[in-house]
Amino acid sequence: MSAARPVHAPQTLFPVADGCLLVGGIPLPRLAQRVGATPFYAYDRALLDARVAHVRAHLPPEIALHFSMKANPMPALVQHMAGLVDGIDVASAGELKVALDTGMAPEHLSFAGPGKRDAELLQAVAAGACVHAESEREVRALARIQAQTGIAPRLVLRINPDFELKGSGMRMGGGAKQFGIDAEDAPRVLALAAELELEVLGFHIFSGSQSLKAEAIVQAQAQTIELALRLAEASPHPVRILNLGGGFGIPYFPGEQALDLAPIGEALAAALPRLRAALPQAQLSIELGRYLVGEAGVYVTRVIDRKVSRGQVFLVTDGGLHHHLAASGNFGQVIRKNYPVAIGNRMADGERETLSVVGPLCTPLDLLADQMELPAADVGDLVVVFQSGAYGRSASPQGFLSHPEVVEVLV
Ligand SMILES: *Cc1c(COP(=O)(O)O)cnc(C)c1O
Repeated sequence: MSAARPVHAPQTLFPVADGCLLVGGIPLPRLAQRVGATPFYAYDRALLDARVAHVRAHLPPEIALHFSMKANPMPALVQHMAGLVDGIDVASAGELKVALDTGMAPEHLSFAGPGKRDAELLQAVAAGACVHAESEREVRALARIQAQTGIAPRLVLRINPDFELKGSGMRMGGGAKQFGIDAEDAPRVLALAAELELEVLGFHIFSGSQSLKAEAIVQAQAQTIELALRLAEASPHPVRILNLGGGFGIPYFPGEQALDLAPIGEALAAALPRLRAALPQAQLSIELGRYLVGEAGVYVTRVIDRKVSRGQVFLVTDGGLHHHLAASGNFGQVIRKNYPVAIGNRMADGERETLSVVGPLCTPLDLLADQMELPAADVGDLVVVFQSGAYGRSASPQGFLSHPEVVEVLV
């Protein structure tokens, strides 16, 4: 007997009316008319609001919630998020500009990422944003900027921890990494910063991303807190900023289940008394990207052609991997799996068939759904890729094959 095939977690966030998916309360065909073209990304404001409220309901109120805007840098979306979260984490001077334009106070912005150019460091210092130094070179560059401008940088050290978030989609901590200063090297860099007359405000410890296991996140957070307490002992100044990382995942593939925040919130609440006693001046924060925005977005593309090749049905759409690399399976996945996909104007029960959804690019990699069971669809129908609010447009090679750029709307 074979085990039941794993299925996608049900997509129930977007309501359905008269057989059509509603995004921002608008039936999808109507939204497509309003946008004026396919393909497009649509992000639902109400779902963004609900997700932030859900996180806040579980986290202790003392823990600030930051949005990692590289997950979705659309300016209107970042503006909306700025009204919901306590801080925005940026990864380039370009993102810093968008974050500053929201009006969020600069001390609630933080700039992390390897290889920051001196000009970008100067922009961040001039803005008054926190700069998360990832190397000794960045610390020395910040000291020069302080000497030249007379502005004290809001310096935080990004630490490469000596552990990693287990089962994490992308490993970004532990072992040899280009991110952050190795934890064991931190005391030396703290001494260097003191010698250069820089005040280190605190630490940023990010141990991984896209985890769906609450226990793994609880464990990584416990290790993060232990490491932060050790680093605080080596710091000549009181810790004012402690970013505990994030790593909350969303279910993309068959068999994956939504992350349970309750145990994470409980463990953080239990750790708070000790943190408050040891680091009384520290503002604690966590940083989330895809967890806040990923499930609030869909990618919508129209069927241009329907073909049958040696018995297999292919829907050829006007969108594909050039807009949505991750859904094609080419953004860090080891084994290609289907994102949840639907026919957005045929949501009611009806005839179903096994079909593949492919894009218009001349490469077999341009695959949005590989032999999925979907409603029988035809030219003109709207294919919806769920879980598309993060790492979509900005993480895709739009120039590849010179097709039109994808539109984004916030509804
Ligand atoms: C990319 C990144 C994040 C966001 O990761 P998600 O998986 O989208 O939550 C958070 N922190 C740092 C340092 C990052 O580089």
